[in-house]
Amino acid sequence: MSGARARRVAAARDPSMELFTAIGNFLAEHRLSPDPRHYEFAFRVLSDAEGPLARAVAELTDGGYRLTGRNIEELGGEVATSASPAATRIRADTLVAETQHQVEGFSDIMQAMARETQDFGRDLARSADAIRLDRSLGLDEVLRVTGSMLDRVRSAEQQLDVATREASELRQKLEEARESARTDPLTGLPNRRAFEEAYAKAERKGDPLCLAVVDIDHFKSVNDRFGHAVGDRVLKAIAEALQRHCPGAIVARYGGEEFALLFQNLTLAATRATLEEAREAVAARRFRLRETDEPLGAVTFSCGITRSDFSEGLGVVFGRADRFLYAAKEAGRNRVQQG
Ligand code: GH3
Ligand code: MG
Ligand code: MG
Repeated sequence: MSGARARRVAAARDPSMELFTAIGNFLAEHRLSPDPRHYEFAFRVLSDAEGPLARAVAELTDGGYRLTGRNIEELGGEVATSASPAATRIRADTLVAETQHQVEGFSDIMQAMARETQDFGRDLARSADAIRLDRSLGLDEVLRVTGSMLDRVRSAEQQLDVATREASELRQKLEEARESARTDPLTGLPNRRAFEEAYAKAERKGDPLCLAVVDIDHFKSVNDRFGHAVGDRVLKAIAEALQRHCPGAIVARYGGEEFALLFQNLTLAATRATLEEAREAVAARRFRLRETDEPLGAVTFSCGITRSDFSEGLGVVFGRADRFLYAAKEAGRNRVQQG
C-alpha cells in the first residue's frame, strides 16, 4: 500500500481524526479545490471508509495515483470546471494524472509486445525442432507455422500502430501539461516556477544577469475601489506593458501583483533605462473603467534591480532586488532603485 493511501486509510479509520481534517487532506492530496462538489465527494468517500465508494477510490489510487476528474465522474462525483486560475491549475494536474495513466497503458502495450515476441521466438524454435526431428511433418507443419507467424506479425503491427498513436498523443499531452504548469493563467506570462527554471538555466550558461522585481503601487486600493475584476485587467495591462517595453527579457508573474524580469547580457544601466521607460509608459497611461469610462487614476509600479555576475543563486539575487524594491517604495513609489 502506498504511503499516501496508508495515511488516508489511517486518517479515515482514526476516530480521533476529525472528518473535516480528513476531507481537507483528501482534497489536498488529489489537488481538488474546496468546491462544494469536491467536498461532497470527499465526504462520501471518507464518511464510510469501508463502503464501496471508498474501496473503489482505494483501488484507483493504489500505488500513489491521484484521482483524475474522469475517475471522480465515473464514481458518480461531480468535478468543478470553472475557468478560474485555480481550476486551470487543477486542469494541469488532471492532465498530468491522465498522462501518467496513458504512459502506463503505453508501457503495458510494449511489455505485452515484448512477451509476445519472446513466446513467438520460442514457438518457432519448437516447431523448427519438431520438423528437424520428425521429417514426416514436412510441408503441413511449415505451412501451419508460417500461417501462425503471419497472424502474429499482423497482430504485432496492429499493436504497434496503437502504441505509436498513444505515444504521439502522449507527447502532445505532456507538452500541453508542461506549458500549463509553467504559465500564469491570468496574464499568460511564465509563472514563478518557469522563471526559476529560466534563471537557473541562464546562471548555468554563465552570462551576466540583471534581475528586476516589479511591484504595482497601492494595488490593493485599485481592488478596493473598483473590484477584483478591474484589478485583474490592470494586472494584465501591466504585464503587457512590461513585455512590450522589455522584449529581450524573460518577464514572469512571480506572484500576486509582483513581476520578475531577467535580462541577460545587458548592463545594469541599460536594464535600468529599459525599466524606466516601461515605468514612465505605465504611469502616463490613463486607465479607465471599460463600462463607464470613469478614470481609475494613475497606476504606477516600483522596481528594484540588481546585477549578478556569478552564481549566487536566485534566492540571494532576488533578496537583493527585493531590498531595492522596498527602498523604491520607501522613497515614494513610482520609481526604480538599483544596486
Ligand atoms: P504597495 O504599494 O506597498 O505594494 O501596496 P499594495 O496595495 O500594492 O500592496 P499590498 O501587498 O498591500 O496589496 C497587494 C494587493 O494585490 C492585495 C491583493 O488582493 C492584490 N492581488 C494580488 N493578486 C491579485 C490578482 O491576481 N488579482 C487582483 N485583482 N488582485 C490581486
Ligand atoms: Mg506586493
Ligand atoms: Mg504592491
